[in-house]
Amino acid sequence: MLELPFGGFVIDTPGIRAFGIVELKKEEIYHFFPEIFEFSKSCKYYNCLHINEPECAVKDAVEDGSIPWWRYKSYLNIVLDENDKHRVKDVSS
Ligand SMILES: [Zn+2]
Repeated sequence: MLELPFGGFVIDTPGIRAFGIVELKKEEIYHFFPEIFEFSKSCKYYNCLHINEPECAVKDAVEDGSIPWWRYKSYLNIVLDENDKHRVKDVSS
C-alpha cells in the first residue's frame, strides 16, 4: 500500500486486477491460492474444482483447518458466479 502525497492510498492488488482483466478458466483459479493448489494434488480427480466432488483433499483440508475457511470462501466466490450456483451439483458428473 502506497501513501500518496496529496492524501489517500493506492492499494496494490495484482491478484484482484488479474481476475478482473484475464478471463480465467475455473480450473486455473485455484493456482492463485497456493495452499489450495498444494492440497489439490491429493484430490481424486485431476479436474476437481473443490466444490462438491467426492474425495476432495481441499475440502478435507478446510474441514480440519489446514486451509483457512476465509481463503476457501474467497476461492468459491471467484469460481462460482450466479449462473453456476444452481448447477454446482453437476460439476463432478
Ligand atoms: Zn478437490
